[in-house]
Amino acid sequence: MRKSTFSRTELSRAFGIDVATLGTGSAGTGFSFGKVAPGVTSEPHRHDEIEAFVVLSGAGKVRTDLGEISIKAGDVVLFDPFEAHVLHNDGDEDLNFVDVFWRDGKAALDAAAQVAAPGRPIFVFSAPPTPNGDLHLGHLSGPYLGADVYTRFLRMNGAEAYHLTGSDDYQSYVVTRADADQSTPAKVARHYAHEVRTTLGLLDCEIHSFLHTMGDAAYGEFQVACFRSLLRSTAVDVSESPALFDAVTGDYLYEPDVSGLCPDCGASAGGNICEDCGAPNLCHDLGAVRSRHSAEAPLVGFVRRPELDLERCYVNIDRHLRASGAPVRILDLFARLRQRADLSVPLTHPSNWGLPAEGLRGQVIWAWPEMAFGFLYNIQALGRMLGRDWMRRCPATTGRLSISSVSTIPSTTLYSTPLFMPRCSPTGRRGSGIT
Ligand SMILES: [Zn+2]
Repeated sequence: MRKSTFSRTELSRAFGIDVATLGTGSAGTGFSFGKVAPGVTSEPHRHDEIEAFVVLSGAGKVRTDLGEISIKAGDVVLFDPFEAHVLHNDGDEDLNFVDVFWRDGKAALDAAAQVAAPGRPIFVFSAPPTPNGDLHLGHLSGPYLGADVYTRFLRMNGAEAYHLTGSDDYQSYVVTRADADQSTPAKVARHYAHEVRTTLGLLDCEIHSFLHTMGDAAYGEFQVACFRSLLRSTAVDVSESPALFDAVTGDYLYEPDVSGLCPDCGASAGGNICEDCGAPNLCHDLGAVRSRHSAEAPLVGFVRRPELDLERCYVNIDRHLRASGAPVRILDLFARLRQRADLSVPLTHPSNWGLPAEGLRGQVIWAWPEMAFGFLYNIQALGRMLGRDWMRRCPATTGRLSISSVSTIPSTTLYSTPLFMPRCSPTGRRGSGIT
């Protein structure tokens, strides 16, 4: 017999509510105390364990994929493996409950097989690598091995699942590598895309469609059409906004051209995106910003670019995150972004490497929104190989398609959301990187 005591006033934050871990038994079992304050909603999550809430006091609502039910003191709610759930306190006193969870391998496998129902293709995307070098062990052990294992698991259980990726040829980092190698971006992209593919082959990583974005005329035309639709979007304005320039060379600075401190998490970050926390930045808002072109501090100028006003997208993003069972890391990124008022992200940059941005002379479509549309193009390319009629221009909005992504950079998922309301697919352990 073991006895321990917990304090209801010393709780820690997890899943958006206050909890105290009470204990764990054998592997895969555990129990905790949870408190949801009035008006608070827990973060949606799902996991392979079966879970039960025993409501001690208070009242509220539980939402799952199947709908919403009211709960009050004395109720016990049981969740199947991978069943997404959210707890909301709509009363005026604390909702206190005991949470018990345990792992049942057979139940988890049965639930996973249901998610992977026949007739519903599942597309597993691993983040398209930038062809500025070969893959290293960290790349392989993270997104690529993870996506390979996940796709094989789905297929072994009868699902129609495909692993898709490609080389993200128009990334600005390819230019930096070409400068260092005294080569051209096109040569660098071609060389390392081949290396990457060969390495994935040596790993026995099965890729069902590998998209080379450079040199595919139809891909370029598709991106032009997507870019036009972005410009027509009510969330996009073409406006003049601050940008960084090198004080000596006068070069426009973005991505690998600058480094500094992330305005969101404070970690060292490159321009436009923080690899640490996934938050976008605007280069001029980096702390202690430095140019890589010269030793002088960069100058702030102005550039006219189409910008995505994130605030106008939050309702869509929120709906997508709730429906997709996104991992906690992405939910956390979204919550932090919402706190930054007036955040508009440029969709093009002055550069001569990339797909030309129509109507904006000397500018190219930023590689990240390009990648989001590239996912759709890749699905159609795969469909063509398989003799299927999947259309990149009209992705299904109900049921037929579902997207899974394995990404090292959470924002990839955010940019791809407006086009899909994918059905949820199972995550591995709680908070794992596979969504
Ligand atoms: Zn950061």
